[in-house]
Amino acid sequence: MTGIDDLPIRDELRGKSPYGAPQLDVPVRLNTNENPYPLPEPLVARIAERVAEAARNLNRYPDRDAVELRTGLARYLSRTAGLEVGADQVWAANGSNEVLQQLLQTFGGPGRTAIGFEPSYSMHALISRGTGTGWISGPRNADFTIDVDEARKAIAEHRPDVVFITSPNNPTGTAVAAETVLALHDAAQDARADTAGALVVVDEAYGEFSHRPSLLPLIEGRPRLVLSRTMSKAFGAAGLRLGYLAADPAVVDAVQLVRLPYHLSAVTQVTALAALEHTDTLLGYVEALKAERDRLVSELRTIGCEVTDSDANFVQFGRFEDAHAAWRGLLDRGVLVRDNGVPGWLRVTAGTPAENDAFLDAVRELMKETSA
Ligand SMILES: *Cc1c(COP(=O)(O)O)cnc(C)c1O
Repeated sequence: MTGIDDLPIRDELRGKSPYGAPQLDVPVRLNTNENPYPLPEPLVARIAERVAEAARNLNRYPDRDAVELRTGLARYLSRTAGLEVGADQVWAANGSNEVLQQLLQTFGGPGRTAIGFEPSYSMHALISRGTGTGWISGPRNADFTIDVDEARKAIAEHRPDVVFITSPNNPTGTAVAAETVLALHDAAQDARADTAGALVVVDEAYGEFSHRPSLLPLIEGRPRLVLSRTMSKAFGAAGLRLGYLAADPAVVDAVQLVRLPYHLSAVTQVTALAALEHTDTLLGYVEALKAERDRLVSELRTIGCEVTDSDANFVQFGRFEDAHAAWRGLLDRGVLVRDNGVPGWLRVTAGTPAENDAFLDAVRELMKETSA
C-alpha cells in the first residue's frame, strides 16, 4: 500500500500529522470552541433569501475584492472595537486560517521565520510549516501569561519576520495587555531594523468574549501591526468559513499579491453580509456565553479544579496527573473536551447551560473517582 512517505512530498512535511480535533459523535461536544447556539431563524431565512439572489448570478465570478462585505465588516469593527476603520483597512478570506495563511505567504515563506508564545493556537505553527516559514516556539510563564522580558529576549535572539500574539489566547483563555503587544511590536521592529521591520499579527479570534476592550486601536499609526478576527466563534458561524483582518491599507494591498483570484465565493460573501445584519442578536448570545464561561470558571474552582482566568468562550482546567486519562474519563461520561497536549490541563468550550451542567456533573464524578 502506498503511504504518504512513498510520495514525493516536501521534506518538512514527512512524518507530520494534520490538524485534527477529533470529530466524535458524543452527546455533549465541547471541544472545538464552537458557539452552541444555532443561527436564529430570522437570520436563516435572510441567508436563504440572499443566497437565492446570489444564485441568479453564479454564472459570474464573485466580486474579487468583496467590497460590500469589507464595508460591512469595517462598520462592525468601527461600532464595536474602538477604532473607526474603513473598508480599505479590512480584508476577508475563508476563515481566519486563510487570512493567516495569506499573511504568511506574503510576509513569511522560505528563509523567513515566525514566532509564537506557546502553548498557543497550534495552527500558527502548522500554517507556518505549510508556507515554508520556520517556526520558533517562544516562552510563556507558568501561569500562561507572556513574560515581556523573556519574549523580548526571544525576539532579539531569533529576529523573526512574523510575530503571533493570540489574545485571548487559545487554549489557555489568557488575554494579553495592550502594553505587552506594544512592547513586543517595538522589540520586533528593533530586531529587524536592518530590513523593513517585522509583521506583528494579533489573533483576536475570541475578542468579542473578552473582559477587555479590543486591541484594534493599536493598529493606528502602526502599519506592521495586523488584527485578525473571525465569524467562527462570536458570530456562531464556524460552518460559514469567514475570517478577516484589520490593518493599514498597505497590508491589504500586500496580501492581494498572494490571494487566489475570486477566493471568497459569492455565497460566502452574501451569507456573511446577512449575518452582519443580525449582529445585535448574535452579540446577545455572546453575552449569554460570557456568563456561562464565568459560571464554569467559578464552579470548576468550587469542585477543586485549577482554572486559568479566561477571556474567551472556553476554559482551561486541571491539573490532572494524566490529562489524557481525564479526557478519556469525561468522554466515557458522554462529554467531549479538548486535550491540547498542555501537560496537566484540558480545555472545555462554554456550551448551553444544559451542556455545561452535564460537563460539570461529569467532572464531579471524575474527581470523586480519582480521589477515591
Ligand atoms: C478558532 C480560532 C481561529 C478561527 O479560525 P477560522 O479559520 O476563522 O475558523 C483563529 N485563531 C484562533 C486562535 C482560534 O482559536
